[in-house]
Amino acid sequence: MIQISKPFIGKEEIEAVTDVLKSGNIAQGQKVRELEEKFAKFCGTKYTIAVNSGTAALHTALNSVGIKPGDDVITTPFTFIATANSILMAGAKPVFADIEQDTFNINPEKIKDKITKKTKAIMTVDLYGQLCDYEEIGKIAEKNNLTVIEDACQAIGAEFNGKKAGSFGDIGVFSFYATKNITCGEGGAVVTNNRDYADKSKLFRQHGRSNMSTYDYISLGYNYRMTDIQAAMLLEQFKKINIITKKRIENAKYFSKELGKIKGITIPAIKKNNKHVFHQYTIKIEKDFKLSREELVNKLSEKGISTGVYYPKPLHLCTHFKKFGYKEGDFPVAEKLSKQVLSLPVHPNLSKEDLNCIVDAIRKI
Ligand SMILES: *Cc1c(COP(=O)(O)O)cnc(C)c1O
Repeated sequence: MIQISKPFIGKEEIEAVTDVLKSGNIAQGQKVRELEEKFAKFCGTKYTIAVNSGTAALHTALNSVGIKPGDDVITTPFTFIATANSILMAGAKPVFADIEQDTFNINPEKIKDKITKKTKAIMTVDLYGQLCDYEEIGKIAEKNNLTVIEDACQAIGAEFNGKKAGSFGDIGVFSFYATKNITCGEGGAVVTNNRDYADKSKLFRQHGRSNMSTYDYISLGYNYRMTDIQAAMLLEQFKKINIITKKRIENAKYFSKELGKIKGITIPAIKKNNKHVFHQYTIKIEKDFKLSREELVNKLSEKGISTGVYYPKPLHLCTHFKKFGYKEGDFPVAEKLSKQVLSLPVHPNLSKEDLNCIVDAIRKI
């Protein structure tokens, strides 16, 4: 079976975790600090606050920039549910704006239509590993005095003009869940250049506990701490990030070269001056393809190739968000793409034979 995702783990991770277990210091400590320093340097931001999931990181980011009940946050309906749920966790309302055909990312023009007096922030998502159009989004945010929160959970290492994912918003968010490009099982991080946001994030991570005096709590917080077990594993993953990203890009390049020739398949678009890190390699199945997407999924599965549909239902059509009055037809691009997208395995564990097997299977179909 060729899996849709598989963590890239070697003996280095196993040894690093074992060392932490033997040390007896297993909760948040020196390893987390070390990770935060390395990660901030990598992203080109001043501060990193490690937490225990991407969802926790989103919640922390929203709180730190001051999102509160009564606020609106504009985001994409074509994302993982955590993006929009975190807005609800902060007591605010997710206001969806439709996406672009070619990149699957939020469409800046559609953001403009949704801005009202209640709008406080834009939560962008760098879907599948490619950055949003931050030149346009930045202009809109500045003009309307909005904060940009960048959900870069799928885009670690992605670049535009050499600038790294996570650094485009006022605050950026990462996830280290098992399927992400680098992982520690569950984990997350907030990155920012803003000292105030960084301080607030640290408080939020630990019950609002002050750094200054040992047992003074100055605001509401949660237990969102990362452990040294997770951080030790991540530090090893981090050493491999360039290999992991390079492999993903190479695999994607090979797919695009081969699959681009097949009628009815649209290969992923890479925007100018962008480094797409291919968290997902996502093709579109067009009308003139021989099979429906579901038939293709089944055929590939019969041949031992697992695929993924991210996402089969845009968020505004999920029961949970329909309560806000959204309905079919509200975001036609997201709705259409949700019926066309198919993600193929692109992870660094794939061998040349695996890649050929996937291409051959689709070609024969
Ligand atoms: C994975 C992911 C998250 C949430 O991360 P968890 O670590 O699973 O909580 C949020 N947003 C996007 C776009 C993601 O892909």
